[in-house]
Amino acid sequence: MISRIGRYLKPDTYCADLDELDFPAFFEDGYRLVLLDVDNTLARHGSFAADEYARRAISRAQTAGLACRIVSNAGKKRIQAYAATLGLPFVAWARKPSAQGIREACRIENIEPEAAIMIGDQILTDIVSAHRAGCLAVLVRPRYNQEALHVRLKRYLERIVLSGYKLKTGKQRRKKKN
Ligand SMILES: [Mg+2]
Repeated sequence: MISRIGRYLKPDTYCADLDELDFPAFFEDGYRLVLLDVDNTLARHGSFAADEYARRAISRAQTAGLACRIVSNAGKKRIQAYAATLGLPFVAWARKPSAQGIREACRIENIEPEAAIMIGDQILTDIVSAHRAGCLAVLVRPRYNQEALHVRLKRYLERIVLSGYKLKTGKQRRKKKN
């Protein structure tokens, strides 16, 4: 039971920021789709428009040959506006930790979840949903510290999980899951 939960919580890759990710290596390993969380992954919580940091990450992934799509739990109105500033398609109200939004994104892109990467800042939503859908789970350190109380509570739990796994940034998992 514990090991099963542990498997769902452990990111495959952990990075300090999106600039660390080696997208060409992901492509080389057979990945074709990058799914991205918005709040505290690409942008400040509540953002309506992308900044240079987000643009750079998307541009690097696309240049490496990877399709990109936003998968966010936030509502459609804001995510549609945000995704438009990056020229990206999106799935809003994804209900992570459910795998539903990720599966929907993969279905629309016609790419198997095994060839997709979910990148997000929260273990209890992004990482769990990635594992449940069967894609590579990449945890990125949150961009900003100011967060709502319920998110701060989740951070506390995440720190316990991360310390348990002794995860370090800078080691990108390269092998595709079988
Ligand atoms: Mg987030």
